[in-house]
Amino acid sequence: MSYADPSLEALLQRLLTQYQPRYTEGKVANYIPALAQVAPAQAGVAIATLDGKVSGAGAFEQQFSLQSVSKIFALVMAMNRLDDELWQRVNMEPSGQPFNSIVQLEWEKGIPRNPVINAGAILVSDVLVSHYSASKSAFLSFIRRLAQTDQIYADQQVYQSELEHGNRNAALAYLMKSFGNIEAEVPLVLAQYFHQCATAISCAELSRALLFLANRGVQPGTQAQICSRRDAHRVNAILSTSGMYDQSGEFAFKVGLPAKSGVGGAIVAIVPQFGVITAWSPPLNRFGNSVVAMQLITAIAEELGLSLF
Ligand code: GLU
Repeated sequence: MSYADPSLEALLQRLLTQYQPRYTEGKVANYIPALAQVAPAQAGVAIATLDGKVSGAGAFEQQFSLQSVSKIFALVMAMNRLDDELWQRVNMEPSGQPFNSIVQLEWEKGIPRNPVINAGAILVSDVLVSHYSASKSAFLSFIRRLAQTDQIYADQQVYQSELEHGNRNAALAYLMKSFGNIEAEVPLVLAQYFHQCATAISCAELSRALLFLANRGVQPGTQAQICSRRDAHRVNAILSTSGMYDQSGEFAFKVGLPAKSGVGGAIVAIVPQFGVITAWSPPLNRFGNSVVAMQLITAIAEELGLSLF
């Protein structure tokens, strides 16, 4: 049982009422049928703070498809198994290309630009398959432990849909394999990656799950060290430069927080020493970022003066 902060709740409610009607400016992801069916008018927002409080407004307890935000959890798990070797197999530079771009991968001989574009995340999934036994359930257990709930699950309909429409991700994986940068068999790696993307989670759960990144790697409450302090800083650095697809520069400019978005309509922003904000609304702008979530997080960061820069 967690408590809410009444002043944060009032702020979130006011901003949600203001920005939710803007959902008409975007389009729900349609690359798989399971996501295309999601109703567009929904929105929720939650802030978890280091003192254990979770404040929310709108559909903040409704689950949605985690999609690319899953790349954060997988990256932390991979960093916990490999040290510098990981950074010989994937770079830490912004890509300046769409999230599923393949051209740079050929130029750079199968080394992805960073771990939060698709190619890099598929490589990270390979690390999980190769270094964790039962890697799919290890991933789910990790998120459940962080969010402190067993309600989080992998949505089988989304998973199947991803598998059936996964040709481009398969192309990225086979190209990396051809350069010797994927260890496991490609179908196993893709199954791991799609399973991660298909995670169903709410704004409240996601905010709580990522608090360790706002707290130097330590989960508040349990005081468990989820990753090293150095790795928490590194993940936040990658999210600051690359987490918002090809809108990462603009996001740093206007919001100034490490953040990650997913095509399910979620955006999560880490506020070091304060907490984690998650906003969700399915319609996306042309970069693949949720229109309403983007405006909500921008407004929250402005009103609370959260920019790190
Ligand atoms: N499952 C999606 C894909 O790999 C995730 C895309 C995203 O959220 O950026 O294409």
